[in-house]
Amino acid sequence: MPGTIPRPLEPILREFADVAGCLWDLGWAEASAGNISADVTSLIKVPLTRGRTGQELPVPLPAIAGRRYLVTATGSRFRDFRSSPEDKVCLVEVSAGGNRISWNSLVFTARGLNPTSELPSHLEIHAILRALGSASRAVLHTHPTHLATISHLRRCADPDELNRLLWMTHPEAKIFAPRGAALVPYLLPGSNELGAATARAVRNGADTILWRYHGCIAHAPDPSTALDRIHVLDKAAKMVLMCLAAGEPWEGLDAAELAELFAKFGK
Ligand SMILES: [Zn+2]
Repeated sequence: MPGTIPRPLEPILREFADVAGCLWDLGWAEASAGNISADVTSLIKVPLTRGRTGQELPVPLPAIAGRRYLVTATGSRFRDFRSSPEDKVCLVEVSAGGNRISWNSLVFTARGLNPTSELPSHLEIHAILRALGSASRAVLHTHPTHLATISHLRRCADPDELNRLLWMTHPEAKIFAPRGAALVPYLLPGSNELGAATARAVRNGADTILWRYHGCIAHAPDPSTALDRIHVLDKAAKMVLMCLAAGEPWEGLDAAELAELFAKFGK
């Protein structure tokens, strides 16, 4: 890796590359879809300077005033991350007042990069997590095929039914994703309304949020764990869709078996 990358950032940059590559392999990151952010304040102690760009935040976020984030750049293709992640990310800094952000590309050769257009939503989630004292430091958005597909089923407009289907189809979905997926109805991608609905879900305790017809956003201590959260639920969604497609009577875990799981692994 070129020496221009701050050494403390090398492990998290490598993790960004690994996770982005996995998302591409899974078919969840078509074109430039998907974005990742991670709080790196403890790794980068020096304020950003060199040629930075900035803008006002739509909503002031005093909970993350002065903090720094590694963020995937807008238009970056996850299929290209494994070979050179350093020129596809930005370092973002929130102002001391919490009302403004500024950013730099990570390496000199990638000047002019801008962070993902979903950054305001990411930062809103980071602010809630910080205010809640959460251990989560990473936020990940991707397009998991089976979860996005199952969200089209009319019965899955009801989040209780959605999660019942996921949990009854694979017992470890309940173990690894005990909170299931919070469901946000379809809203315009990138809109303030989508950001606000997602923030509400996080404030209410969700760690994985399914945007109906679109994809997922999850938070976790690190990007790999955020991917795990979505992956486990997507596997269950795939099995639900396969059971439905099989056209045979379909059973899954019954109420007593689900109750046993809830008793042992519930929230
Ligand atoms: Zn998306």
